[in-house]
Amino acid sequence: MVIIMKSDASQENISGVIKAISDAGLEGKIMEGSQQKIIGVIGDKTKLASVAIDALPGVESSVAISRSYKLASREFHPKSSVIDVGGVKIGGDEPVVMAGPCAVESREQLFEAADIVKSGGAQFLRGGAYKPRTSPYSFQGLEIVGLKYLAEARERTGLKIVTEVTTVDGIAPVAEYADMLQIGARNMQNFGLLKEVGKCGKPILLKRGLAATIDEWLNAAEYIMNEGNPDVVLCERGIRTYETYTRNTLDLSAVAAIKHLSHLPIIVDPSHGTGKWRMVKPMAFAAIAAGADGLMTEVHPNPAKALSDGPQSLTPENYLELMSGVKKLSKFLHDENLFSYEE
Ligand code: PEP
Ligand code: MN
Repeated sequence: MVIIMKSDASQENISGVIKAISDAGLEGKIMEGSQQKIIGVIGDKTKLASVAIDALPGVESSVAISRSYKLASREFHPKSSVIDVGGVKIGGDEPVVMAGPCAVESREQLFEAADIVKSGGAQFLRGGAYKPRTSPYSFQGLEIVGLKYLAEARERTGLKIVTEVTTVDGIAPVAEYADMLQIGARNMQNFGLLKEVGKCGKPILLKRGLAATIDEWLNAAEYIMNEGNPDVVLCERGIRTYETYTRNTLDLSAVAAIKHLSHLPIIVDPSHGTGKWRMVKPMAFAAIAAGADGLMTEVHPNPAKALSDGPQSLTPENYLELMSGVKKLSKFLHDENLFSYEE
């Protein structure tokens, strides 16, 4: 941290700041500028968390130099992490695809979707049993019954299961039936929920919040990791902008930013990212070309009849076409060795 003193700060003001820093167990170094004095703080700045530096007499402002997240940062963990979910490796050479309906609607619908997802070569079946819907009158999910169908679909296909948890009380049942717990965009800064999933012993898929900065998103990952759970995969799913043509604006630059800032794998969800099934394939290809570690896409046996997110759901045919393109594209990128984000 660097503390910038006001141009008229007195010697007494400077001594007061140096004392506050040393009382916190850190060292302050004074740097003389032509107009102002600057104090550099050396050591772990979390020790200063309870000191209101900016409120001390003579202080103009303070600037954090190191990032507030550490466990999620590549700075302290240069090698990219590979997250193993029951033998499926996310962040390795192959892109991992999580596909399935927005919501589990019935056993028949889920099994039909699961068979299609399996035949296309995805590794995970997705499907919400607890749906965070904008309107309380919209379909809210089958809850525990939906979780049981998901577990049956795993038995049937061998696919791993990823599904959303929306409440602290829901963590135990979701962790019992699923291989990976999804924290949805709306809960990315539900810190109580983040802390609890940090203790659940299962890998977490952390979606980016509707209006979250990359810094806020990585701090959300830090909350989970700080509770002892290192298995976090990030998912870019679009952010809210002034554009109304698409449901969200898919921020593919987040892939490159995250790869620089963090060692955690990142996948991309072009379904929620665009809200339009026609845009899913091109954005999925773009995500893989940008270096994403995988994709999440919505697939429904009959999107026109879907109880949620039909307009962005792929038909079985479109899903199979997407998967065949993803395989070709990732083979090309891999063979040509076009990506190496290790630093
Ligand atoms: C979902 O994946 O079904 C979902 C609700 O996504 P998001 O949290 O990204 O809106
Ligand atoms: Mn959805």
